[in-house]
Amino acid sequence: MTGKQAVEISVVIPAYNEEQNVTALLERIKDVLEPLERSFEAVFVDDGSTDNTLEALQEHKQSKPWLRVIALDRNYGQTCAIAAGFEASRGAIIATLDADLQNDPAEIPRLIEMLNGCDAVAGWRVNRQDPWLRRVATRVANGVLNKLSGESIRDSACSLKVYKRACIEGLTLYEGLHRFMPTLVRMRGFKVMEVPVSHHRRNAGKTKYGVWNRMFRAFVDLLAVRWMKKRNISYHAREL
Ligand code: UDP
Ligand code: MG
Repeated sequence: MTGKQAVEISVVIPAYNEEQNVTALLERIKDVLEPLERSFEAVFVDDGSTDNTLEALQEHKQSKPWLRVIALDRNYGQTCAIAAGFEASRGAIIATLDADLQNDPAEIPRLIEMLNGCDAVAGWRVNRQDPWLRRVATRVANGVLNKLSGESIRDSACSLKVYKRACIEGLTLYEGLHRFMPTLVRMRGFKVMEVPVSHHRRNAGKTKYGVWNRMFRAFVDLLAVRWMKKRNISYHAREL
């Protein structure tokens, strides 16, 4: 991170065609993070939106000096957008959120508090506000994940998470792996806790995924994560 001025908290937000959501989200972030009196930045990554997401974000640059906007030249997918945000971020603590207000920025301070006892905190959507088929699909996916990879994670894919920087630094991501962050961070030797968080209906705009295509792709990705976990190299050594 040389050459970049550090801040205490980075909030990384991937956004693909979220023009109707970004203004409200920015106001929420302002209301929650400014009163903390800790240095922070919101790193929005526009993932090749074809609507006016980028323009909507630009409008806030003047009034919100903590806003950073990273524009990808086309749509690369959610993991890539998050990875680009991680790369650009300067925070000692990194939080992630979706751009559609399904996650509430008001939870961030509580999750950051919890970093006193661990390295990363993952949200667990207890009162999930998505269609029933999506909720069932997630439950099955988490069950299969736990069974196949020996994990005990209740909601691996919840976007609301906070990390100490070390959890993320040097982590190589592949498309789809944003759904497996608790496992990937644990594999690196860090302690991850799960905590119940609120969840809301999508504010505006549309989900970028269908139930079936996501389920199939997530299953293929799960097999990759399972393999990685099995073959993970982790050791203690000393030089004499
Ligand atoms: N997203 C993205 N690139 C994509 C698809 C999604 O940056 O190719 C962003 C999207 O704008 C949102 C987040 O990733 O901020 C989660 O997407 P979405 O809300 O569609 O997923 P869901 O909540 O339905 O699982
Ligand atoms: Mg969403």
